[in-house]
Amino acid sequence: MALNIVRPALLAAARSPKLEGLVGKSRVTKKLVDRFVPGSSETAVVDAARALLESGRSVSIDYLGEDTTDEATATVTVDAYLSLIRAYTGLTVARPHSLEVSIKLSALGQSLPGDGNAVALQNAHKICSAADAAGVWVTVDAEDHTTTDRTLAVVRELRKDFPSVGTVLQAYLKRTEADCREFAGPGSRIRLCKGAYQEPATVAFQSKDDVDASYLRCLTVLMEGDGYPMVASHDPQMIAAATSLGADRAAPFEFQMLYGIRDGEQVRLATEGHRVRVYTPYGDQWYGYFMRRLAERPANLTFFLRSLVSR
Ligand code: FAD
Repeated sequence: MALNIVRPALLAAARSPKLEGLVGKSRVTKKLVDRFVPGSSETAVVDAARALLESGRSVSIDYLGEDTTDEATATVTVDAYLSLIRAYTGLTVARPHSLEVSIKLSALGQSLPGDGNAVALQNAHKICSAADAAGVWVTVDAEDHTTTDRTLAVVRELRKDFPSVGTVLQAYLKRTEADCREFAGPGSRIRLCKGAYQEPATVAFQSKDDVDASYLRCLTVLMEGDGYPMVASHDPQMIAAATSLGADRAAPFEFQMLYGIRDGEQVRLATEGHRVRVYTPYGDQWYGYFMRRLAERPANLTFFLRSLVSR
């Protein structure tokens, strides 16, 4: 199945509440979702984190949810993160900062009308404050390109009080090489990914070759800089490039992959002595996350469609 045909359709479906109802009700979806999301409860995700830590990997946990439309839901998200950070104290870690949380500003109120940015900043500040006290890192996820400027503005504000706050830059955006230069300085933590949303050609590279070439340019900027690069990709070409660029670097960097994807490769890299962090989502709001994973991998989609018709 041609990825360039189905990908835009799946990414549009990821934002459709109607389809969310339909897919969410399908019994067969659960089996596939379980592959990417270890559970809906905090207990389930903390158990998954324990197993990952025992295998020599680090974790970043994401409480699923995005595009929050009311302040009460944003508060529920903040409370979930505060509770998770408390639960982290029960885990044993081999290395400082093995525990991280990943937050989405749209889940913290960024898209609320009026003062959405201020609400998101205030909510993110609460999470960063608790995380800082517990020695837990925080990284702010990247969402669609209409939010990039506002997200980076919030990150700059947060870094005034919590200099270790990291963020994500998406190599498919044409602006990202310049953003990498801004964020390649001392103390800066940047997770570099390719990008998971449907973006127009005015702002984003469209072909895989162009996205890959941009990723390699951005990776070089980060690896030659003084920050802490976080190489988020399952792509063997990007992993090989990071391994080679990282070998020339005095300071550390880490690989990051998603829960349930290329588990064997994650273990291989960790066994070879690399730092590997696994982005591990939990909660009930898995639909958008799940659809973006389907869009990335036609093999997953074929399996999903086959299971729907053979119900
Ligand atoms: P792709 O270009 O999708 O795949 C390239 C090659 O990698 C494939 O040909 C195959 O060889 C290998 N590969 C990929 N997937 C698999 C698989 N399932 N099994 C086996 N081989 C595989 N996106 C955002 O927009 N915002 C974020 O905040 C964000 N955070 C992320 C955090 C982490 C830790 C990671 C890993 C990704 C994140 N993403 C985020 C998603 C990212 O942007 C990509 O959509 C996603 O990682 C797919 O791109 P890729 O680099 O892995 O390789």
